[in-house]
Amino acid sequence: MSEPTIDPKLMETIVSLCKRRGFIFPSSDIYGGLASAWDYGPLGSELKNRIQKFWWREMTQLHDNIVGIDAAIMMHPKVWEASGHIENFDDLMAEDTVTNERFRFDHLTPEQQSTMTSPAGNPLSAPRRFNLMFKTHVGAVEDSASVVFLRPETAQGIYVNFKNVVQTSRVKVPFGIAQVGKAFRNEIVTKNFIFRTVEFEQMEMQYFVHPSEDEKWFDYWMAQRMEYYAKLGIRPDCLRFHEHGPDELAHYAKKAFDIEYLFPFGWNELEGIHNRTDFDLSRHAEFSGKDLTYLDDVKGERFLPYIVETSAGLTRTVLMVLADAYEEEEAGEGDVRTVLRFHPDLAPITVGVFPLVKKDGIAEVARKIERELREDFSSFYDQGGAIGRRYRRQDEIGTPYCVTVDYQTKDDNTVTLRFRDSMEQIRIPVSQIGERIRQGTREYTRVGT
Ligand code: ATP
Repeated sequence: MSEPTIDPKLMETIVSLCKRRGFIFPSSDIYGGLASAWDYGPLGSELKNRIQKFWWREMTQLHDNIVGIDAAIMMHPKVWEASGHIENFDDLMAEDTVTNERFRFDHLTPEQQSTMTSPAGNPLSAPRRFNLMFKTHVGAVEDSASVVFLRPETAQGIYVNFKNVVQTSRVKVPFGIAQVGKAFRNEIVTKNFIFRTVEFEQMEMQYFVHPSEDEKWFDYWMAQRMEYYAKLGIRPDCLRFHEHGPDELAHYAKKAFDIEYLFPFGWNELEGIHNRTDFDLSRHAEFSGKDLTYLDDVKGERFLPYIVETSAGLTRTVLMVLADAYEEEEAGEGDVRTVLRFHPDLAPITVGVFPLVKKDGIAEVARKIERELREDFSSFYDQGGAIGRRYRRQDEIGTPYCVTVDYQTKDDNTVTLRFRDSMEQIRIPVSQIGERIRQGTREYTRVGT
């Protein structure tokens, strides 16, 4: 299979669309922004919430035995000793001796690494290790006893709650705990928009299994996670697995695969699937002094479960979904339309409602229809400008359905329903709009390039 071509200019186009239409703004924009921090605007926060909801439903509703939690960002400092983050969570960095700019050593080219030259052509300092965790203090006194870290991953909040969940939720191994939340890493971030940021969100699910079944569940989750991206409507030829070689494996992992996406700047990690063995539970048992073994009361066997982790970036998925959905399409007579081909469940607005004209009571009828639709769908009323332009404005933000109300509506209570992807228009009774939207969403498949 030949690899799809990528358009290196696409990132610039997406960044500009995101700002113009209110998906994503630079953080503290009026002060000139803050490097590597971004704010989600009205459409962006909807899109992010919907991706999160899609993932949460997939994990907790569509799988047996997966429950959710929402743990605090700040945790007991011993957590990070037990997890290995104090000791191991660092990047090897080299500094440009002229500009003092720091670079991740593994992000330099082999030539820059061997000649110890920075991208600007200056000599580099010897590489040093920098811990990536943000450190702060809790309480009135800034002493070593008050040190806390902003969590660099959400996973640890799950491990330290393993016992609480087992005791309160009647779950039986194999079972999973899912969580979505913020994580923080003091990484050097220079480009690629929201791909890598110091503050980001993760969607993680930790699956606790009998040690003899780790391989089986690892394979199961690899297949499940790829299927999930197909359900999200992501182009399959833009996704692939990458297995971690021995030099890439994290200190806790026996086996690891990334799911990579072909971003406009090349193949990069979207999600990690890791066999973490009993590393986490055994370390937390050791550091907390608590028994974290699990009792299988049918077999009478007590053991420390192994963990298969699926760890996806929520904010990184937002970028992937935007890049995958973006298309410029010939729309006849030299006209080009911009369309975001979001899965209808992800689109910030599900249905736009327009009166063909404002006069003769048409606008009132359209408003009434929009008010009824908003009970079930996220809807948007627009009466400004030519109808073709109103369609294009919705195409550009990925609205999958538009309803147009005209004179005929007043006579026979029918409207025009227009589909974003095919631009097909059908005439249907007002009473059928909801069902046609639900049907279109159920039967959705990605079209276009
Ligand atoms: P990378 O190699 O890109 O630094 P990682 O292997 O350290 O990532 P994990 O620790 O496995 O990443 O984190 C799981 C997921 O969290 C990643 O696949 C990614 O989607 C997301 N993620 C990690 N770091 C960041 C970041 N700085 N900004 C945005 N998302 C991130």
